[in-house]
Amino acid sequence: MKCTVFKFGGASVRDPKRIKNVAGIIQQQKRKKLVVVLSAMGKNTNQLEGYVTDYLKSKKSLGSNLEAFADQHYAVAQALDVNPKDLKKKYTKLAKACQALLASQKKLDEAYIYDQIVSLGELYSTVLVHNYLSSIGLSVAWLDIRGVLKTDRTYREGKVDFKKTVKLVSKKIKALTKEADVIITQGFLGGTADGATTTLGREGSDYTAAILAYALGVEELTVWKDVPGILTADPRRFDNVELLERLTYREAIEMTYYGAKVIHPKTIQPIQNKGIRLKVKSFIHPENKGTVISTQGQLKYPPIVVIQDDVILLQISSKDFSFISEDHLSFIFEKMRKHKIKLGVMRNSAISFTLVILPVKESLLKTFIKDISVLLTVDITRGLQMMTIRHFQESLLHKLIQDKVILFEETLDDTVTMVLKASLEFKEG
Ligand code: ADP
Ligand code: ASP
Ligand code: MG
Repeated sequence: MKCTVFKFGGASVRDPKRIKNVAGIIQQQKRKKLVVVLSAMGKNTNQLEGYVTDYLKSKKSLGSNLEAFADQHYAVAQALDVNPKDLKKKYTKLAKACQALLASQKKLDEAYIYDQIVSLGELYSTVLVHNYLSSIGLSVAWLDIRGVLKTDRTYREGKVDFKKTVKLVSKKIKALTKEADVIITQGFLGGTADGATTTLGREGSDYTAAILAYALGVEELTVWKDVPGILTADPRRFDNVELLERLTYREAIEMTYYGAKVIHPKTIQPIQNKGIRLKVKSFIHPENKGTVISTQGQLKYPPIVVIQDDVILLQISSKDFSFISEDHLSFIFEKMRKHKIKLGVMRNSAISFTLVILPVKESLLKTFIKDISVLLTVDITRGLQMMTIRHFQESLLHKLIQDKVILFEETLDDTVTMVLKASLEFKEG
């Protein structure tokens, strides 16, 4: 089956004008069957996180919150001339199913509650866009991803069962492409074997698109963004950024792991494994080429700057001036695994071990520190900035770090990673 996958994030469907723009991009894709992965509209996931907090305080709050949430979507539907009756029927059904999943769990599991409520963002946005596309005459089908993208029960960070998912995705999507040219489905969501909803981690819709591309064995996946493609730095923080026209999978995975927020870090592995081309393109200027990620990169890369906020520096030493041994290290790593602490960079000396860890919930950090403090002394510095420059040049480095306090520095080949105290902003004016 000739098929391709598109992914549109929250910014691309945040209002009626943007939804019309997305419809235009979809209509231009005439040659193949198309699977479209969508996020919740705008910042709706944050809003739904607020509903979870309300629900944990008072279960009664959910009813009125969901009504308000549906009303927001009806307002957009009205601007798009979408029939509200059918939309209402579908939203009522989804809200009822969510309430039933919440009621079925006797134990108060916050992560479970989070997934059942927060998933409504993608469910509501896809229903709305599906109904809109159908109203303008496109041949379109809606797919509930929870029935095909199967995960374990790790709520808020579902682990994908690739074997089951590949089977279900190809069967279901093949059947749907017989009925429709465009299939609209949700990013970020999965389903357990027993019918509960899971989510794949914040910003996870890019990852969903990669999983579907992998399962369908497509040649190409396009993620549509509010930037021209992958740039040499985040344009919200830096002036004078350049477009990177071609990147290898390796370059892309390194950038995203160190904090380039343009695509979710888990996106690259499935597409690399099948040699799928990943295009990152602008939904504002769809005619432009954007960035292509594949086995072929550029001959020469300019310096690429990646900033990760809120990293934590841990200086760990033995309590009795003894060497940091392999036993200590394996003890530390085992506790990191247990408390889901993610490593940025690290270094050891005779009696100390320095770890830079990626942003983590304070409660997990606290239990991790408590656990390792049994054997070791830990000094913590929070709220730091990690700057990674790939393909760095001395002149740029000097410019970026002048008057900054550097707490940690590591150079490997042409990549330098620094942990800085001061906040970095390089926008002029
Ligand atoms: P989505 O709409 O798919 O959720 P995001 O908003 O998560 O997309 O990602 C796009 C944003 O990523 C851009 O608006 C930009 O500010 C940011 N970004 C960070 N680093 C880069 C980079 N190196 N190149 C391009 N954009 C970047
Ligand atoms: N809507 C989810 C989020 O905002 C997933 C995504 O957009 O990628 O995190
Ligand atoms: Mg996003």
